[in-house]
Amino acid sequence: MKIDVLSIFPEMFQGVFGSSILKKAAEKGAVSYSVTNFRDYADNKHNTVDDYPYGGGAGMVLKPQPIFDAVTVLGKGREKKPRVILLCPQGERFTQKKAEELAREDHLIFVCGHYEGYDERIRENLITDEISIGDYVLTGGELGAMVVIDSVVRLLPGVLGNEDSPVLDSFSSGLLEHPHYTRPADFRGMKVPETLLSGNHKKIEEWRMKESLRRTWKRRPDLLDAYELTEQEKKLLEEVKKEG
Ligand code: SAM
Repeated sequence: MKIDVLSIFPEMFQGVFGSSILKKAAEKGAVSYSVTNFRDYADNKHNTVDDYPYGGGAGMVLKPQPIFDAVTVLGKGREKKPRVILLCPQGERFTQKKAEELAREDHLIFVCGHYEGYDERIRENLITDEISIGDYVLTGGELGAMVVIDSVVRLLPGVLGNEDSPVLDSFSSGLLEHPHYTRPADFRGMKVPETLLSGNHKKIEEWRMKESLRRTWKRRPDLLDAYELTEQEKKLLEEVKKEG
């Protein structure tokens, strides 16, 4: 996958692309990153990328020209059209489903805004997806782009050591994940559940399924509304509800 980012603060991405799983993913050849300062595409003497809003009011607005030209250049010479993603608090709320959808693409271009907003013609004519990372307002789109990129890259084939692990993550299955424990079995009197120490794989699987249902029911019951329970899950959920 090729990931391009358009930002007027490209240095913000160095730490994220140069660390941990995202760095390893690039080393393995699963992804390549490129961050472009769209100021370099501004066709005016001072490389200005923003201007006053028509009609007056507070804040500056990102001009269409630098972003249109940068996206055109970055999309050239590739077989498939890129997905051009605008980070914006007014966009579709980001979910694991969306991450899975984007992980199937060849080329993603992220456009990071600043100031009051974007010229509306960018949204209407250039962008394929508008994504919000939550109902709050950031100073710029960079942190949002990092969140989306991180969650997409970890889904690319071969990026995580254990191919199964993204499948079991919270939201991927439609439920929240069960709790985890590691050694020691007794930490200052706080004990690991007996079942996990039993070595009985069937029982452990059932415990995990039940705890995943418990966690989802207690923390995110809305997820259960959209989830199709198996007969075994129905039975376990009934038990969870009785246990309170
Ligand atoms: N005036 C805009 C509005 O009310 O929709 C907010 C602009 S915000 C100060 C500047 C930039 O930060 C946005 O253009 C967007 O790129 C980014 N941003 C802010 N909040 C975001 C969010 N929740 N998700 C994704 N990007 C966000």
